[in-house]
Amino acid sequence: MINPANRVKSVEMSQIRKMFEIASPTAISLGLGEPDFDTPIHIRQAVVDALEEGFTHYTSNKGIPELREAISNKLASENKVKSDPESILVTVGASEALYMSTQAFVNPGDEVLIPDPGFLSYAACVKLSEGIPVPIPLKKENDLRMTIEDVEDLINPHTKAIILNSPCNPTGSVMKKKDIKGIAKLADDNDMLIISDEIYEKIIYSDKGQNKVKHYSPGQFSENAITINGFSKTYAMTGFRIAYIAACEHLSEELLKVHQYNTACASSISQKAALTAIKGPQKCVDEMLAEFKRRRNLIVSRLNDMGWECKSPQGAFYVFLDVRDSQEFVKQALNNDVVVVSGAGFGKTSTNYVRMSYATSYENIETAMERLENVKF
Ligand code: PMP
Repeated sequence: MINPANRVKSVEMSQIRKMFEIASPTAISLGLGEPDFDTPIHIRQAVVDALEEGFTHYTSNKGIPELREAISNKLASENKVKSDPESILVTVGASEALYMSTQAFVNPGDEVLIPDPGFLSYAACVKLSEGIPVPIPLKKENDLRMTIEDVEDLINPHTKAIILNSPCNPTGSVMKKKDIKGIAKLADDNDMLIISDEIYEKIIYSDKGQNKVKHYSPGQFSENAITINGFSKTYAMTGFRIAYIAACEHLSEELLKVHQYNTACASSISQKAALTAIKGPQKCVDEMLAEFKRRRNLIVSRLNDMGWECKSPQGAFYVFLDVRDSQEFVKQALNNDVVVVSGAGFGKTSTNYVRMSYATSYENIETAMERLENVKF
C-alpha cells in the first residue's frame, strides 16, 4: 500500500463536485462558477487561425511576448499596476497562478491569511505548500467584505502572505479602496506578500442612484503584491485554461521556477486566443455583464419575495445567502431538483449560508426560483 504524502492527505476533494454526483439529471444547477455563454466567436476564430498556421509548439516559458506586452499595457492603463512584460508569466488558468504563488513563497509552518468565506483553492494551495491557512473571518455587518480591521490583528511574525479576492467568490463583495490601500501598507510594514486574485475584475455592477463600484489592484500600492488575473470569467474561456501573474522582477524569477518545472508553458493556441481577447473588441464583455446583471436582479428579487433577506451583490456571479441551516436548505433544494452549494465548504464563518451561482440562463433561474418556493423551514 503506497501512502500519499502528508500534505496531500491534508487536503479534501471539492464538496461542490460531490453535489453533482448526487443530483438528478433533471436538476437545475446553481452550483458551478462557470459562465454559460459561448466563448465569443472572434476569440474562437483565433484558435482556428493559430492551428492553421501550425502554431502548435512550446512557447517561451513565460508566454508569447506579444501577449505579455498586451497584459502589461492593460495592467498599466486599467489597474495602475506597473509591470515589465519580462516579469509577467502566462499561466494555465488562475488556478496554476495561485498554486505557483504558494509553492514559490510559503515555507512549512508559514501562516497565510485567507478570506473566510473564501474560494476553496486558497486553503488547499497553502496546505500543499505545508503552510498554515489562517482564516480572516468576514463580518455580516460589512456584507462579508474584507476590511483592514479584519486583517490587522491577525498579522504576527509567522505571517508570510495574505490572499485577497475582490470581487469575491463566494460572496460577490467588492473591497473598498481604503481597505486595499491599507492592507498594502500593512504588507509593506510587515514584509508580507499579497496574492491578489482578480479573476472577477470585470464582473462588477453599478446600480442607479448608488456610487460607482470600482476595482482596485493592491499592486498599484505595493511592490509586495502579485496580481493574478485571467480570461476564464471575463471572456467565458474556462476550458482554454489561460491566465497570468504579474509581479516585480525578483518575485517573478521565483515564480518562473515553479511554472517552468510544473507546466513548461501555457497552451500555445490558448495564448493566441487570449491575445485576441485582450486586444480585440470588448463589446462581448459588456454584453455578458449586462446579462449577468439582469440575472442578478432576477434572483435577488425572487429570493426577497420568498422572504429571504438577500442584498444585491456588487460583483462576480454568486448570491450568498444566510439561510440559518444550510444543510437543510441544500437537502430540500436537491429534493426540489435544484443544486445549490453549502457555505460550509467556503469556511467556518459561512456554515449557515448557501451559494447560488447565476451563471446559468435567465429561464433556468426562473424555474429554479419557482422550485425553491417549496423550501420551507
Ligand atoms: N479564483 C477564483 C476566485 C475562482 O472562482 C476561480 C474559478 N472558479 C479561479 C480562481 C480559477 O480560475 P481559472 O479558470 O483561471 O483557473
